Amino acid sequence: MNQLAIHNPANGNLITQVHADDAASVAAKAVRARAAQPGWLAVPLTERKACITRFRAGVVAELEVLAAIMTSETGKPIKMSRNELNGLLGRIDFFLKEVDAQLVTETVFAEGGMTEQIQHIPLGLVANISAWNYPWFVGGNVYIPALLTGNAVLYKPSEFATLTGLAMARLLYDAGVPQDVFITVVGGGEVGQALLEQKIDGLFFTGSYATGARIAQALGPRMVKLQLELGGKDPTYVCENADPKAAAESLADGAMYNTGQSCCSVERIYVHETIYDAFVSAFVETVRGFKVGDPTSEDTYIGAITRAPQLAVLDAQVADAKAKGATLLVGGTRLPGPGNWYAPTVFSNVNHSMELMREESFGPIIGIQKVSGDAQAVQLMNDTRYGLTAGVFTPDEARAKALLSQVNAGSVYWNCCDRVSPRLPWSGHGDSGVGLTLSTYGIQTFTRPKAWHLRSAS
Ligand code: NDP
Repeated sequence: MNQLAIHNPANGNLITQVHADDAASVAAKAVRARAAQPGWLAVPLTERKACITRFRAGVVAELEVLAAIMTSETGKPIKMSRNELNGLLGRIDFFLKEVDAQLVTETVFAEGGMTEQIQHIPLGLVANISAWNYPWFVGGNVYIPALLTGNAVLYKPSEFATLTGLAMARLLYDAGVPQDVFITVVGGGEVGQALLEQKIDGLFFTGSYATGARIAQALGPRMVKLQLELGGKDPTYVCENADPKAAAESLADGAMYNTGQSCCSVERIYVHETIYDAFVSAFVETVRGFKVGDPTSEDTYIGAITRAPQLAVLDAQVADAKAKGATLLVGGTRLPGPGNWYAPTVFSNVNHSMELMREESFGPIIGIQKVSGDAQAVQLMNDTRYGLTAGVFTPDEARAKALLSQVNAGSVYWNCCDRVSPRLPWSGHGDSGVGLTLSTYGIQTFTRPKAWHLRSAS
């Protein structure tokens, strides 16, 4: 049997080893899950909802343990682990409240003996390849509505959040979800690859553009529903009439929360030239106040970098920015180990010739660029292949809306950032992906509409 070693990225220690799948075991799990799906669909929706309600109660009961597990394998500061688990509860509540209405068969025509109806049936067997940065959020966005709508789920946690994925499975089983209806698939990229080869009805992926593109290529000819939630290079523009200190404090948090490892982290900041200096100095002051250290400490704000290879990406962006004339204001280096550590890093005088302003950093590092006004800000915000989120800080609502209407992004923010709501669809434009999760659309996405043409005999 293959083994997967789980390490703590904050100190490099081996936490444990778990059994990992291989191609044969993935295939067997897919067969089991497919066979179990019709039985799960036959379970009344009220009982499927009761299972998820009990799962929610399990999360609440074990919140401290679950937070500690997530912190140990991802390096996420413990307070943020708790925040994620508490945030999950609101998402579960939303799905439980909305799912009934999404599954009601609609009669769209009834005249002269002819009736037309739209029925919402589950996709069938859904595969979910998930990320490590918010494993409860990005996993729960998929498997909770998928299970509620009557699908079976093959869930592959990232190898960097495997213990969390196994905890999810245990809580789902304790809550009454049958062991063949939700099955974890454990291992690294090659196990994800094996998952793609199974007979599945939907593939829901959260991760990098590079992996997403490979998955799209592999599944393209297979006519499998494909949903990809990928990376971003999310910009924010601070107008001349914004409060520079308030904007800086909010955006420093948006850039560095979860050690900058959020899909919707603020990754580029444009500031009007008239308040640029005030903004930059407030931003640096805020970042200097962020406590870096042991993720299990209550006052830690910057934790470990979860994946060691990301350190080289950050090094390269820093070196490139420096070589092209950016001004390093704070940080700019790895911090001593053991474990994977990077100092919170702020550059001013950046431009779009630099990788720092073009490619996802996915770490606690940010560039702040001076702009002359709205037109330049919009042009720069749209100068990207990504389109996940974008924001504007100004007291002027009409101006913010006019600006954000011109920006190519799935979510836009006025005077806020790095925010996800269960009530709103989460989607990316361009290389940030296809499809969506959350909102009522994020329930429907696990169903397909079946058209009924019914002529009565009389
Ligand atoms: P990766 O693309 O490296 O991995 C994502 C998942 O794919 C992991 O489970 C990984 O397994 C698996 N995988 C790797 N190779 C293959 C393959 N060849 N075939 C099938 N599966 C494979 O991304 P990260 O986990 O590093 O996540 C970070 C990225 O996710 C960032 O770009 C971030 O922006 C994005 N993201 C986007 C979100 C959104 O909502 N748009 C939300 C959260 C993150 P393993 O880890 O075991 O190698």
